[in-house]
Amino acid sequence: MKTPMELKVKPIKNGTVIDHINANKALKVLKILGLPSPETGLTLAMNVQSSQMKSKDIVKIEGRELASREVDEIALISPQATINIIRDYKIIDKGKVNLLKEIKNILTCSNPNCITNTDEPVKSRFIVLNNEPLTLRCHYCERIMDQDDVETQFKLF
Ligand code: ZN
Repeated sequence: MKTPMELKVKPIKNGTVIDHINANKALKVLKILGLPSPETGLTLAMNVQSSQMKSKDIVKIEGRELASREVDEIALISPQATINIIRDYKIIDKGKVNLLKEIKNILTCSNPNCITNTDEPVKSRFIVLNNEPLTLRCHYCERIMDQDDVETQFKLF
C-alpha cells in the first residue's frame, strides 16, 4: 500500500534498502551503521503503513552495502527487517536479518556486578533464549535481558 510518505522516497542506484524496520527504530539502525556520514546518501521514511506490520520504518542508503556484523546488530533492534541490495536500480539480493544464537561483544550486561562489567578482560556474551519477544541470558551471570534492556545496553547507544 502506497502512502504519501512512501511516494516521496527516491529510488537509489547502488546501495542498500533496509525495509520492515520496527516503527521508530530507524534512527537506532542508523546509529548501528554509523550514519549519516558525508559520503553516504540517505533516505529515511518513518511510520510508513505496511500490510505486514502496523507501521514500519524504511532506510535507503546510497553507495553502501552492509557488513554481516551490522546485519546481526540490526536483528537485535528489528527482527523482521529485510535487507535489499540494489545495483543499477535493481534489487540483486533480498535477505532477512537473522538473529544469532549467541550475541558477543555487542551489548553490555545490565547487571553491574557481572564479570563483564569489571576490569577483567571478559567480553560480553549472551545466549538468545527467545526471538519474539526478544529474551537473552548473560552467559556469565545469567541476568535475563528483554527488548528494552537490549536497547539500553547496546554498546553503541
Ligand atoms: Zn552478566
